[in-house]
Amino acid sequence: MGTASSASAPPPNCPLLELQLQLQQLIASAARTAVLSVSVDRINAINLAIGHRMGEQVLRQVAALLASESGELGTIARTAEDRYVVILPGADATDAAARAAEIVDTLSRPFEFGEYQLRLSASVGIAVSSEDAQDAASLLADADAALHDAKTRGGERYQFYTVQMKQTALKRLTLESELRRAIERSGERGGELELHYQPKVCIRTGEISAAEALVRWRSERWGLLCPDAFIPIAEQSGLIMQLGEWAVETACRHASAFRCEGQGASVAVCVNMSPAQLRAPRPVDILRAALRRHRLPPRLLEIELTESAVMADVHSATASLLEIAELGVGLALDDFGTGYSNLSQLGRLPIRTLKIDRSLVTGIAISSRDAVIVRTLIEMGHALGMIVVAEGVETEAQLSVLRENRCDEAQGYLIAKPMEVTAFAAWLRHWNTSTVTRRGVANS
Ligand code: C2E
Ligand code: MG
Ligand code: MG
Repeated sequence: MGTASSASAPPPNCPLLELQLQLQQLIASAARTAVLSVSVDRINAINLAIGHRMGEQVLRQVAALLASESGELGTIARTAEDRYVVILPGADATDAAARAAEIVDTLSRPFEFGEYQLRLSASVGIAVSSEDAQDAASLLADADAALHDAKTRGGERYQFYTVQMKQTALKRLTLESELRRAIERSGERGGELELHYQPKVCIRTGEISAAEALVRWRSERWGLLCPDAFIPIAEQSGLIMQLGEWAVETACRHASAFRCEGQGASVAVCVNMSPAQLRAPRPVDILRAALRRHRLPPRLLEIELTESAVMADVHSATASLLEIAELGVGLALDDFGTGYSNLSQLGRLPIRTLKIDRSLVTGIAISSRDAVIVRTLIEMGHALGMIVVAEGVETEAQLSVLRENRCDEAQGYLIAKPMEVTAFAAWLRHWNTSTVTRRGVANS
């Protein structure tokens, strides 16, 4: 089956320019024209599961399905690997919504693919020509912006374009280009990227076991930004690779300095790693090089990975995890309890630490159900020989429940909020010399 159809269909893999010309003619001749931008959700996961070649065949079948259902005058073209444009001449918003709903519904039905039964889902962005939107290029871009919005809302839905989306897309593009610049200059003095540190303490002794490095962007234009505002953009644009390398390098440099501040006791640093970094070839090389450069023993570095990052492709992740563990760098499973771990696989991974997600810790002092869940996770971690850390500990009552249930370590605002590196170094000196604060954690 080809990738474009209809009486007036452009050729397969129709170049965007040709599609634009065709659309421009339609806009000029029809009272209204609707453009649907259609994409199969999670195509990467499908490619991973059945291979790229088979994945491509699935996409061709999707094109065939779209073409067979496209109305007489509808035109469908494939404009990117996993993206199709359906043009509906004469369609108003109601017609376009009905057509989009049909597409979402059709593509979500299970279908046979060789020996597999696949269940796909699709998202659709809709733009309809109007007095203000009369040119083909903008209409196509608007439908794409609406598609992006549909996907970020979880997919398997259609979404109309709104002006606000353009503003969001523009802000996102600006953030991306400024982030690129900030990363390029991150090695220079006065760079805009910073690592802040939040300690983890041993609940039994009150000793600091490590500090988590949390990236911040002190942007001249936007002010101090937390990771949620820019990590997703870094991940989508690929900038995360450079950002991640900078974080490892900087955290190792800081850890070397903390060794002097720690008055004998060294503090390990924990660095968060994104799924793309784990999937890159040999992430261990970056860690080894940074440790060497800063003469840091590997035991003073720990890498935090989310449960979903590891479990998404556990087979290929395992090789990288084994190499990192063999180097002597610790591995922690972050935000544990929010994803769907395969527990039999979890036990075989070289993970040293389980970090129970804040959302599970919040209610432990007021809800016996939450306390039972956390106790079960602690027991499971211990049964697998892991150190268990509770994230987001904010109250004495939560700490007390964690202590009763033999949780090993705590991290959260009760002990300290993330601090700039110099403030953290001062905090560390104070904590290590003040038995009062340490006993406070150990006995509260
Ligand atoms: P995370 O690794 O789970 O980090 C813990 C987050 O919880 C941090 O937010 C921290 O400030 C916050 N937190 C800690 N204790 C408490 C508490 O008691 N109460 C509350 N309400 N919050 C608490 P932050 O710094 O905004 O980081 C968010 C996420 O961004 C991190 O979640 C991590 O997944 C990601 N991240 C941070 N730095 C990096 C980095 O260098 N690289 C990558 N790839 N991701 C990073
Ligand atoms: Mg973390
Ligand atoms: Mg976490």
